Amino acid sequence: MIVNMSPKATEEQIQHVIERIKECGFQPHVIRGAERTVIGAVGTGGRRGELEALQVAPGVAALIPISQPFKLVGRELRRERTVVNVGGVPIGGDHWVVIAGPCSVESREQILETARGIKKYGASLLRGGAYKPRTSPYDFQGLGVEALELLKEARQETGLPIVTEVMSTEDVDVVSEYADMLQVGARNMQNFPLLRRLARANRPVLLKRGPSATVKEWLLAAEYLLSGGNPNVVLCERGIKGFDSELRNTFDLAAMALAKELSHLPVVADPSHGTGRRSVIPAMSRAAIAAGADGLMIEVHPCPERALSDGPQSLDLAGFAKLMAELDRPARTRAAAVRA
Ligand code: PEP
Ligand code: MN
Repeated sequence: MIVNMSPKATEEQIQHVIERIKECGFQPHVIRGAERTVIGAVGTGGRRGELEALQVAPGVAALIPISQPFKLVGRELRRERTVVNVGGVPIGGDHWVVIAGPCSVESREQILETARGIKKYGASLLRGGAYKPRTSPYDFQGLGVEALELLKEARQETGLPIVTEVMSTEDVDVVSEYADMLQVGARNMQNFPLLRRLARANRPVLLKRGPSATVKEWLLAAEYLLSGGNPNVVLCERGIKGFDSELRNTFDLAAMALAKELSHLPVVADPSHGTGRRSVIPAMSRAAIAAGADGLMIEVHPCPERALSDGPQSLDLAGFAKLMAELDRPARTRAAAVRA
């Protein structure tokens, strides 16, 4: 339920409504706008009849039911777009950012060379996996804490904030010590214990869409984070299972645009995993920006043929430089991306 306070409501009246929402068994979410305060009452099992009676409480202008199942992630309660601050870099708003780096952190040389290169060509954040979700248990699983140390060194040298995946609840504390943003991998999108734990983490979360998740399931996964207390969530479209084996996944830009329409959260696009094919990444990057992406996540490796994971979809540094030039780095405008 949305409680719209009157523009003339006093602080005391607002506090009274917040208290009553709690007493009725719901969680209050207060949004203070320039003109008026809006309070969302969300949760299950509360006394709805009593909540509805708030219609006649002093200072209340109107009560409006929230029709979407994703109450806090949706735009009914919050119209303005959310901007998420990641180590000083804002994601969302009227500009877009690039998160780049290798699939996995493999060595000191590899991550430092990549970090220097991507910074030079205009990336704003460094990615790199320390804990890797691999389809086969025989594949490279990541260097763990050693990789986190290397990422820290790369951040110290370049100033680029770090985005890295956390796969299990046990690793949340250690990864949060090093990372500026915690990535939830596609395969973990519906790992509810992990989402509940990350709702209490003091780091922003990059929530990848599951390979077979609907937009509604994706937004409800984000709802776990917001309802549990973490408002700093960025959604990431990374492709869904399709039938064409020429491409690793089907890069679903329509879903990305829809997620942005239905939610106030920033949405970034990952054409590297979305296609699995280096050659189409520039075209899909331009398409994503034109469709409204708040950022791109691009896998870059100094020598993709030697990569321990996702080499075929990784750009080398020259390829990344070319992509950034095509995207019209200085202007960073959507119009420029469409023209290229
Ligand atoms: C990754 O970012 O390297 C990764 C494993 O992504 P996803 O979870 O989208 O497969
Ligand atoms: Mn990868």
